[in-house]
Amino acid sequence: MLQVIPGTHWVSCPRVLQPVAVGNKTLTDYTHICGRELIAEIRELAEPLQGHRVAHISATAFGGGVSEILYTLVPLMRDVGLDCEWQVIYGREEFFNATKLMHNALQGAPQDLSEEQWAIWRRYGEINARELSDGWDVCLVHDPQPAALCQLVPEKAKGWVWRCHIDLSTPNQDTIAQLLPYIEIYPHSLFHMDNYVPDGMGGEVHVVPPAIDPLTPKNMALSPEDGAFVCGQFGIDVDRPLICQVSRFDPWKDPLGVIDSYRLVKETMPEVQLALVGSMASDDPEGWDFFNATIAHADGDPDIHILNNFNNVGAIEVNAFQSHSDVLIQKSTREGFGLTVSEAIWKGRPFIGGDVGGIPLQIEDGVTGYLVSSVERCAERTLEILRDPELGRSLGRRGKEHVRAHFLTPRYLRDYLKIFNALREA
Ligand code: UDP
Repeated sequence: MLQVIPGTHWVSCPRVLQPVAVGNKTLTDYTHICGRELIAEIRELAEPLQGHRVAHISATAFGGGVSEILYTLVPLMRDVGLDCEWQVIYGREEFFNATKLMHNALQGAPQDLSEEQWAIWRRYGEINARELSDGWDVCLVHDPQPAALCQLVPEKAKGWVWRCHIDLSTPNQDTIAQLLPYIEIYPHSLFHMDNYVPDGMGGEVHVVPPAIDPLTPKNMALSPEDGAFVCGQFGIDVDRPLICQVSRFDPWKDPLGVIDSYRLVKETMPEVQLALVGSMASDDPEGWDFFNATIAHADGDPDIHILNNFNNVGAIEVNAFQSHSDVLIQKSTREGFGLTVSEAIWKGRPFIGGDVGGIPLQIEDGVTGYLVSSVERCAERTLEILRDPELGRSLGRRGKEHVRAHFLTPRYLRDYLKIFNALREA
């Protein structure tokens, strides 16, 4: 659809929220992984919610953790009887530049949005609020980009929920102060951790971590042969040790620190290789600059493989890299939750993560993986694991059971259904 935006030129992007097509999933398929009890509890909670109209609203359908979660959660909500949709808000580059800055500031970066950028954020909020259809039982708004909706058009849904996926533990004070009036009014909100809940938050606050889907191509069981075969196609020497980090090219994920750590490991173990696998998200304009900075930092080292979704690295390839690597790293310096952590340990591989944000929720240091706070420590732990494969196997085995108990999607679905029931009864 072509239309004119006043004061600008013709664009081919329609100014409406875009519904996202998701596949089908069946809750019963998860029984053997999560147990009958949880599945029965979910069915019971879903009983009073049959035909309930639920809209998930997010900023992008591609790249990053939110879209990863919704491709599973939305089909499962449908499977248990909810009339559930996922819609992506309308936004142009000026909006995503502002929201990326907001994201960084909310995670502690010193630069707040300018007055003009706040105005841009509000203007797009108004466009999306106007275009949002009405009659929803629950409107579930993800992250700050669409957060203004509840304040702008409260009448369009009976119940409103705000889901925060980022680390708000040390936000830029100016930024959180500007955002707070829009989020405090949600009757229910969800945060990954207690210390992410900003002061002044109203309504009912739930501390609920997200989860991964064990049955997606990214997380399903892959044989060692298949994992090695796929990695081999990307130039990895499958007979030499491989360290890998899977994540967006973002300063908070610290791929440059991963390269520095790899270099320290290589001083004692020259045969080691590194893969940095990162998808580029459509709402992340900084991504390409940082991708180029990462390539520059690698400085042509043939044993550093920097791959992204434009090199055909999709879900199955991420699975292959996670299943095949000898050590998986998520050396973040800020991390809302870090789905890549649960994804990695679900593969039963040894894991080293930054001791920040949601990573310690998933990793008990020395039991299900290692937590580190410096390049040097990361290198030391990597060498320990590479030198002692049995150590890596036992960390991986325990890590996998921890994920099974706490971080698989059916548990997350149950937590949402409880909130929807609470809203229904309110
Ligand atoms: N991801 C991917 N391909 C990549 C890099 C990342 O599919 O090349 C996925 C990753 O597997 C995970 C999600 O993107 O499911 C990232 O979520 P996470 O919570 O780790 O971080 P976020 O990007 O939301 O900050």
